[in-house]
Amino acid sequence: MRKSRIECGGIRLPIYSVNTLVIGSGAAALNAASCLFKYGQKDIAIVTDNWGGGTSNNAGSDKQTYYKLSLLGDLPDSPFEMAKDLFKGGCMHGDIALCEAQNSVLAFYNLVNLGVPFPHDQYGGYVGYKTDHDPRGRATSAGPLTSHLMFECLAEDVRIKGINIFNQHEVISLLTETINGEKHVIGAIALNKDKLDSESFGFVVFNAVNVILGTGGPAGIYKTSVYPESQLGSSGLALEVGAIGNNLTESQYGLASIKFRWNLSGSYQQVIPRYVSTDRDGKKKHEFLNNYFPDMGRLVTAIFLKGYQWPFDPRKVNNYGSSLIDILVYQETVVKKRKVYLDFTRNPGGGGKLEDFSFKLLDKEAYAYLKKSGVLFGTPIERLKKMNQPAVDLYKSHNIDLTKEYLEIAVCAQHNNGGIKGNIWWESNIKHLFPVGEVNGTHGIYRPGGSALNSGQVGSKRAALFISKRYKKEPLDEEDFKSSAEAQIKSKFEFAQQKIDPHAADRKSIHSARSEIQERMSTYGAFIRDPEKIKGVIAEAWDLYSRLKEKNKVPSARELPGAFRDLDLCLIHAMYLEAIGEYLEKGGQSRGSYLVMDPGGKKPCKELDDKWKFHLNKKDSFVNKNILEIYIDKNLNIKKQWVKIKPIPQEETWFENVWKKYMKDNIIK
Ligand SMILES: Cc1cc2nc3c(=O)[nH]c(=O)nc-3n(C[C@H](O)[C@H](O)[C@H](O)COP(=O)(O)OP(=O)(O)OC[C@H]3O[C@@H](n4cnc5c(N)ncnc54)[C@H](O)[C@@H]3O)c2cc1C
Repeated sequence: MRKSRIECGGIRLPIYSVNTLVIGSGAAALNAASCLFKYGQKDIAIVTDNWGGGTSNNAGSDKQTYYKLSLLGDLPDSPFEMAKDLFKGGCMHGDIALCEAQNSVLAFYNLVNLGVPFPHDQYGGYVGYKTDHDPRGRATSAGPLTSHLMFECLAEDVRIKGINIFNQHEVISLLTETINGEKHVIGAIALNKDKLDSESFGFVVFNAVNVILGTGGPAGIYKTSVYPESQLGSSGLALEVGAIGNNLTESQYGLASIKFRWNLSGSYQQVIPRYVSTDRDGKKKHEFLNNYFPDMGRLVTAIFLKGYQWPFDPRKVNNYGSSLIDILVYQETVVKKRKVYLDFTRNPGGGGKLEDFSFKLLDKEAYAYLKKSGVLFGTPIERLKKMNQPAVDLYKSHNIDLTKEYLEIAVCAQHNNGGIKGNIWWESNIKHLFPVGEVNGTHGIYRPGGSALNSGQVGSKRAALFISKRYKKEPLDEEDFKSSAEAQIKSKFEFAQQKIDPHAADRKSIHSARSEIQERMSTYGAFIRDPEKIKGVIAEAWDLYSRLKEKNKVPSARELPGAFRDLDLCLIHAMYLEAIGEYLEKGGQSRGSYLVMDPGGKKPCKELDDKWKFHLNKKDSFVNKNILEIYIDKNLNIKKQWVKIKPIPQEETWFENVWKKYMKDNIIK
């Protein structure tokens, strides 16, 4: 890494020149850096706004899942079978599915070698279980904190390798250059948060041949969210320079606690807690689900099933399915403005048309599971302690005592299946820019639980391999870099200067912009979508974007990172809403993890009013056979295009042929 200074508009700024700049320090970004080093590209740097922040290090669930090829005993499996199952989720390109399947073993054993404690038997067999949308027991887990353990092991590896790390540096812009009509990324600008008070507002410039973007999911656009608070996301950096977003309509939503953000899947539901709602003051308490379920058997079975049917799924609503619960929780919390809690201290209560709770009322599958687990007794908390004491301890360690307290919940945003588009080497349409991890939208409508972590590891490894073979050039000479990037750096710096007005309102104005974005997304762009409202909502989103760009001021440079992040989040939410609008215009109905309101549809249950009517998408509908891509073109117009889903490629499997190509270095291209 070379360090020098660059003069831009009369201000001298530090400039670092590297072959590859890795943005972010989640599991995907760290693996990218580690693999680059391993493949021989050591001229690299990691720049992160907050070492230890992000989803990987701070999120988890009852049993956080990692999806990989089945590796145990005589269980039949193959990469092609796994690719088919990934592809089956819908709107996922077949070539990407094959890469994720084909590379899953390498990625998984890399984590094992780094020390992630995935459980194995005495013969070295890595045991697995079935997760959602998984027919073969490919899932594994290192416990509730799988992704945190991955972060720890990868971080240690990066430390041992001595890779340069710029902590507390928030990237605010990507630098690009158009060569022969194609846009290339050539670096980035960051704000050093420890130097905001300096004359240069902490501006730091990176001159890089390649940029790996590992900034995670767009968590900061949602108000109701189970992403950790430290994760905001920065996909706007890529969208701003014309990167294509695909499947931006597809995210996952599900029940989670909100005081401490945590997924309430697995045993938290299998022990069958009581669902209670109260008014805003904690009064008028009642078990609201009882008004909608026709009998106790179907109610407790639906609660039990929520354990492994965790994300909301419109296919699981009708006939008193487990996803009806998400709708009812949403109705209580958002429509009726009440609060909803899980109570583990008592079994669901009967009364009215519902008989008293009894295990005998459960359906066969649920009853057998609880019997096998030896928990056909007592209260939900007693069962949870027996089945999964760490699940109780986890809340205790965040000052929530499930043995005494109610746990406040909501239907929260959890994961983005879509994101910035990449090819089979995870390179975007902007040359040399590689989105990896959750910021790269490889998944489609449905995905097997745990495949997000696999995708992050596979994609970052493939990006690193490609860079180390094909893009290993030295970074530009500083003068050449300056002539390509000076105007962009100057314009960002002037923009920052204009943003600062000592007479501007205080931090409140920053918070109000972010709240507006989050409120809008959670109401109109999350798990309930209303075709009647979407046009107006999109207009409001762009209106806020113009106001933030042109008018919003901050009182000092200390507020610049927040102001830039608001702009980024605002752009993301406007683009996501545009995608939702386009999807609805093309006749898109309920699918994946969201419900599209449709007056011509069917009600989820007769006790709900008519506005909840919905339809599922027909399998062969236009929106299910094509993937929606969206981007900003060079004239700053929003472009939308529907592209055919690529099938899974037939691989060349004849050894001699592949060997020949490999020897001629004809594989990585
Ligand atoms: C509650 C919960 C449970 C989950 N359970 C599962 C599961 O069981 N299985 C599964 O496969 N997936 C699961 N996921 C999803 C999975 O954890 C994430 O998709 C994955 O961890 C994302 O990793 P990442 O490396 O892409 O991003 P992250 O880990 O989010 O890292 C993003 C990084 O980018 C940095 N950053 C962002 N913007 C900037 C900027 N402008 N400048 C500098 N740095 C920046 C952040 O600080 C952070 O270091 C779950 C997610 C949640 C929220």
